[in-house]
Amino acid sequence: MSGTVVVGSGMAALRLVERLVERGHRDLTLLGDEPHAPYNRILLSAVLEGTHRPEALELRPAGWYATHGVALRTGTRAAALDLDAREVELVDGERVGYRTLVLATGSIPTLPPIRGMVRMDGTLHPAVHAFRTLADCRRLDEAVAGSRRAVVVGGGLLGLQVARALSVRGLQVEVVEGGEHLLRSQVGPAAGRILARDLRRLGTSTYTGARAVRLVTEHGEAGADVDGDGDGAVGLRLDNGYTLPTDLVVLTAGGRPSVALARAAGLDVRRGVVVDAQLRTSDASVHAIGDCAEHDGRLTGFVAPAWEQAELLASHLSGDDVTHTGSRTVARLRATGLDVAVLGDPEGARTLPGSEVVEVTNPLQGSHRSLVVRDRVVVAAELVGDLSRVGLITQHYDRGTVLGPHEPGHLLLGPPRPPVPGGTVADLADEAEVCTCAGVAAGAVRRCSSLEEVVERTRATTGCGGCAPDVRQLLAARPSLTA
Ligand SMILES: Cc1cc2nc3c(=O)[nH]c(=O)nc-3n(C[C@H](O)[C@H](O)[C@H](O)COP(=O)(O)OP(=O)(O)OC[C@H]3O[C@@H](n4cnc5c(N)ncnc54)[C@H](O)[C@@H]3O)c2cc1C
Repeated sequence: MSGTVVVGSGMAALRLVERLVERGHRDLTLLGDEPHAPYNRILLSAVLEGTHRPEALELRPAGWYATHGVALRTGTRAAALDLDAREVELVDGERVGYRTLVLATGSIPTLPPIRGMVRMDGTLHPAVHAFRTLADCRRLDEAVAGSRRAVVVGGGLLGLQVARALSVRGLQVEVVEGGEHLLRSQVGPAAGRILARDLRRLGTSTYTGARAVRLVTEHGEAGADVDGDGDGAVGLRLDNGYTLPTDLVVLTAGGRPSVALARAAGLDVRRGVVVDAQLRTSDASVHAIGDCAEHDGRLTGFVAPAWEQAELLASHLSGDDVTHTGSRTVARLRATGLDVAVLGDPEGARTLPGSEVVEVTNPLQGSHRSLVVRDRVVVAAELVGDLSRVGLITQHYDRGTVLGPHEPGHLLLGPPRPPVPGGTVADLADEAEVCTCAGVAAGAVRRCSSLEEVVERTRATTGCGGCAPDVRQLLAARPSLTA
């Protein structure tokens, strides 16, 4: 019997285990079905782009687990849960007992209904790729070598990352998005247009309001599905009648929480595994965190809230009196040259009575910034193309600062961050958030003496990596270093 068993060894699972280790927990088991130790999934597109080696994504060195009393079992898939016996059954029939079980199984990609995409034997056509794991990334990377054209299905977070990476690799890329604009779940039409412009600059075309319906041979008759071994060029037919000739199709349109284990065991599952304010499922010894969990009717889908839940659960399991009141939804998109940060739910918030939207779009610069303000408090924000104010805006959003009548405008248009005129990042207030993914403030960075210490103590820079330049500036400006 193990003390705490975590099913899934992704980004939420590792953060939980790190925090439990810090609090003195031992006898921890991580069961992960991927063949690798936990890695930074957000940087997969950087591997595809060629700026990072796969090994660089590893979140902890191989020796870390055993040294800290963590039994990491990679390539180990949990097949079933026996809640009465408090055991996890693995695919090979082995049973692993637990006192506390945590489900951190993440999400799985949803396959859009495209005819001809799935072959008779249930596998995907060789030209079609998913993009969720390092294995998917390697397979796509190999396929890129012999390809000239790619179609990315889905203009959301993953779609933009993949499109960007493939165009940097020299492919002619087209993005197909069923909604009216890019990143439609997170941002409004103006921001979506700026993103489409950014992609266009890279030579990537975007087809919005169009759905891919059929995979066909490039010069095939209408209805001639690619039905088997057809390698090489194919065409992706859209519902508007166009067919996009291509060598590769990458599916990035949507994912859903991975809940099969929980559902089969009889736990309460809606869209995700339902958890309460202590992240407990309907069985008190089973918890769920990250992309697979549903709290108060809401799913997360980003690393920042997944890590927030992991931290809270570690505190709860260590005996602290903590309550999850819903994640602070702050998402930052990781893709070189495509800067996006979203706070809260801008699209939902702007339609609520009493909401006012303050926005600035600069198509020449390729930037769009908007705040949704209710009762003079920032309740949501979207920033595209210029994240220079994200720290300050996040600070006001987190604190619920009541703003003066001109302040929203100053937040968007005033002197770039930091708030003091003529200042630099080094002048940021200690409480100003620097790392959106890990929720790390400037003061916490200042208390460290090196980048290694920042990574070890705060985990800043280990998510999307967008804060790395600011962290370096803060470190360089520490009094001891400049004296
Ligand atoms: C390519 C990509 C890019 C992304 N980019 C961003 C970004 O820029 N910004 C952002 O905020 N978020 C981004 N995300 C989302 C972010 O990665 C997730 O929100 C985060 O990883 C959630 O952590 P998790 O631990 O819940 O799930 P995951 O990290 O997905 O980990 C779940 C793990 O559980 C394993 N598992 C599932 N079932 C079982 C089982 N039965 N037995 C054993 N193991 C199992 C899975 O294989 C997986 O390894 C991105 C996601 C992807 C796929």
